[in-house]
Amino acid sequence: METKIWFVDKQMNLSTSYEQVQQAAILLQQNEVVAFPTETVYGLGGNATSNIAVERIYEAKGRPSDNPLIVHIADKSQLHLLVEDIPAYAEKLMDAFWPGPLTLVLPVIQGTVSTKVTAGLSTIAVRIPEHPVALAIIKETSLPIAAPSANLSGKPSPTKADHVWKDLNGKIAGIVDGGETGVGLESTVVDCSEGIPVILRPGGITKEQLEEVVGIVKIDPALTKREEVPKSPGMKYTHYAPKAPLWLVDGSNEYLQSLVNKQQQKGKRVGVLTTDESFEQYKANVVLSCGTRSDLSTIANKLYSILREFDDSDVDIIFSEIFPLEGVGEAVMNRLEKAAGYQRVKE
Ligand code: AMP
Ligand code: MG
Repeated sequence: METKIWFVDKQMNLSTSYEQVQQAAILLQQNEVVAFPTETVYGLGGNATSNIAVERIYEAKGRPSDNPLIVHIADKSQLHLLVEDIPAYAEKLMDAFWPGPLTLVLPVIQGTVSTKVTAGLSTIAVRIPEHPVALAIIKETSLPIAAPSANLSGKPSPTKADHVWKDLNGKIAGIVDGGETGVGLESTVVDCSEGIPVILRPGGITKEQLEEVVGIVKIDPALTKREEVPKSPGMKYTHYAPKAPLWLVDGSNEYLQSLVNKQQQKGKRVGVLTTDESFEQYKANVVLSCGTRSDLSTIANKLYSILREFDDSDVDIIFSEIFPLEGVGEAVMNRLEKAAGYQRVKE
């Protein structure tokens, strides 16, 4: 299959962008799958009401069919066609964070979307994205659009159209290139099917931000205790992994450097994932900085693209610094732990 590419203006200011969006929307209405930018990462969109379209998403990504998809809508009028029993706290969260990187899990009205979208669950994950291009495409289709990250399953999520191209060229109908995405990590997934909101996946909106709006917010225990079964099916899979084994290092820069030296003595090419603060201090084959510790959102923003850079640089092993579990640091560490398959060394 030939994968079409459309270049659009991120802000949708150019009149040509509208034409491109229309073409992408027509393909989506024909149940083809098309990648487009959102404010989190690139999404692989498909008509959520069509079994064929949804099957195409799973197939292109090689995604396990028990991992449900997030449905993206353009405004709240679409929400009431999909879900029922919305608790008052969920309404507050929507008012505070939509459009934006917050996904809510709510009881689904059976028969409104393909059962493959929800992987047969009684709930559906839904959000309104903030990106002007994503919103324009969804609006143009007048459909609920299922859109997981537009990467091959298991690989780091795409924050640039080029990442999508490398993973999915020839497997999908098109890519709408709107430049780099914003947050750089996926949305926060919050279960709203019980009395208290529960974070199933940390992401762009932090626990602290949610608590400011609704008081107490719980975190799914499976996110911190590996022996628990996560309530969000996708969280049980290893994800975001670079090709080379990645180890998280809980210790000083000197300790991390000593690990690098040992591997190099064995003839290995070693990568180090660090920050602007320590970048100059390491000697390794490839040293990449993810951003600054003084603003963890810069780390969130570049993490996936840096993991993909290690893939391009043919290292045999990667050592990474770790980050405090504060604010967006929670989401950064969640993705890093998964990318590392939970491998960690302590000084
Ligand atoms: P992705 O589409 O790759 O960003 O991943 C979507 C995440 O949302 C995965 O971790 C899914 O398991 C999770 N998810 C989607 N639908 C539901 C649902 N109904 N209940 C719980 N988690 C869900
Ligand atoms: Mg994903």
